[in-house]
Amino acid sequence: MNLAARLRNARRSAARLGAVPLRSALLRTLYPPHCAACDQALPTFLGLCVACLETCEAIHIACPTCARPLPRATVSPCLGCSALNSSLTRCTAAFEYGGQLAVALRRLKFSKRNDIAKSLQSVLQARFAEASRSCDLAVAIPLHRSRLRERGFNQAQRILAPLAAYEGLAEARTILRRLRSTPSQTRLARSQRIANLQGAFAASSRAKGKRILLLDDIRTTGATLEAAAQALLRAGASEIHGFVVARTEWEG
Ligand SMILES: [Zn+2]
Ligand SMILES: [Zn+2]
Repeated sequence: MNLAARLRNARRSAARLGAVPLRSALLRTLYPPHCAACDQALPTFLGLCVACLETCEAIHIACPTCARPLPRATVSPCLGCSALNSSLTRCTAAFEYGGQLAVALRRLKFSKRNDIAKSLQSVLQARFAEASRSCDLAVAIPLHRSRLRERGFNQAQRILAPLAAYEGLAEARTILRRLRSTPSQTRLARSQRIANLQGAFAASSRAKGKRILLLDDIRTTGATLEAAAQALLRAGASEIHGFVVARTEWEG
């Protein structure tokens, strides 16, 4: 069915349902709800089906600086973070990396399907709303242009777009640039990662005075968020708040 026909059908079903807003009927037609990990059709925009959601571990109580889960709520950074002088005012991770969420994130990164980001929005919106409450702008960690050309899209930006739009938070797509393509960092320790990322980002003066929500898909050591936050602060940003879909421990 072509787009015009799908839109017509959406309008008809909205009229039929009366109370259902047109926007939501349109969304259901353009992106029929399905599980972001296993593609099972869902009755509504739940993001993940019950079976997949059961494999995911949401993080609620965590270190405000590195998002590591903690047994008790605290406003002070965890032991590991106290020694580091983080450039982020705070960092929120919605989930531990793993289970079917890892599958959904891999699908988002390696397939061209934008609807997976739309599905993930449902499981992230509440945490994103909390994390972005005091921010003026939202920025996705950018890819270097060679990587962007190769992949065709930036997965962090795909995740961010619907979240920011829903909150009415302005998204700044060109305020932060990645100047260098950094080799895979998966086997490097945090200090090596930070050294590797020196000068990897540059920010424009439009960041001046702004409280910025910086989003990435996965946080491991936090080195990428740190390097990007440093560039934004150098450009005059007043605060950087991190938001990641999932965090994972570095295992070296
Ligand atoms: Zn599923
Ligand atoms: Zn910490």
